[in-house]
Amino acid sequence: MIFRQLFEQNSCTYSYLLADEATGAAVLIDPAFETARRDQALLHELELKLQYTLETHAHADHVTSAWLLSKRIGSRIAVSAHAGVQGADRLLKEGDEIRIGRHRLVVLETPGHTNGCVTYVFDGGRMAFTGDALLIRGAGRTDFQSGDPRILYRSVHKKIFQLPPDCLLYPGHDYSGRTVTTVREERHFNPRLGGALSEDDFVGYMNNLKLPHPKQIDVAVPANLRCGAPQKEGDVPVDPDWAPLVYTYAGIWEVEPAWLEEHRKDVIVLDVRTPEEFEGPLGHIPEALRLPLDRLAEDAGSLARERPIVTVCRAGGRSAQATVLLQKAGFERVANLAGGMIRWRGLGYPTA
Ligand code: FE
Repeated sequence: MIFRQLFEQNSCTYSYLLADEATGAAVLIDPAFETARRDQALLHELELKLQYTLETHAHADHVTSAWLLSKRIGSRIAVSAHAGVQGADRLLKEGDEIRIGRHRLVVLETPGHTNGCVTYVFDGGRMAFTGDALLIRGAGRTDFQSGDPRILYRSVHKKIFQLPPDCLLYPGHDYSGRTVTTVREERHFNPRLGGALSEDDFVGYMNNLKLPHPKQIDVAVPANLRCGAPQKEGDVPVDPDWAPLVYTYAGIWEVEPAWLEEHRKDVIVLDVRTPEEFEGPLGHIPEALRLPLDRLAEDAGSLARERPIVTVCRAGGRSAQATVLLQKAGFERVANLAGGMIRWRGLGYPTA
């Protein structure tokens, strides 16, 4: 199986990619709107087909990308039947199964943080995704969105703590960089719910947290009740459209050699290799502009802005860095030539 823990830094949210490499079937648990492009790039690079986005609950601190991904790549949206969400393809109940090729997730209803919270249990208890019901040495707050500390205590003790002791638990957030825990650990060491702490102890703890109002709640909750669909139609992030660009998981916009060969006159081809390489055996693309990477930050101001820039180097590494430098210098239409001169030559395109 393929497993990735992904992080969204504004809200310290974890998203999880689970996939079966044999079939390419994949799901994303709690994907975030801000990181949709990154997550799409990872799915593309790993050649996975996103079947479902799964929510652990209707979040108050970030907006889900469920709707955005469903529009872009056709994934289906699944969420608890008790979350009060409109527009989902599948409403989940206790015991429901989500197949991921040869693997499966089973739904455990674990309300208390919200009344629509679920935990997803992977392959009989190897791993579980607890959302905000149980955090590492913590628990989701219970002071809004129909939260109830008594209900949460019972969800954790009667459901999550009954999973196998070695079951790995992956939370919806962590604010100090911790990534994973186990049922055994939390049963012993969770300072709110573990050890000998009773339901009344937990209620006393949770009712006195005095946490500030979440920053994004007034935006995030209504949006998440629409599966992350924007309020106004067309209110969605737009990808650059001057070329059929591909965004990589490394964070670089790339363009294919075939497109560049057809559109050389429409762009500035910027070769960032050394003068020796530019004149060397690999040659260079006809009419390419030469500006070595070590001069780029200083000399970027001299580049014309009328046409988009495609950066080139030997194999596509330094030119990827060049796109980052150019974007920092304020150039908006910039892309890297995927594979550099090696690939360009390998495909038989002209060199000078
Ligand atoms: Fe939450």
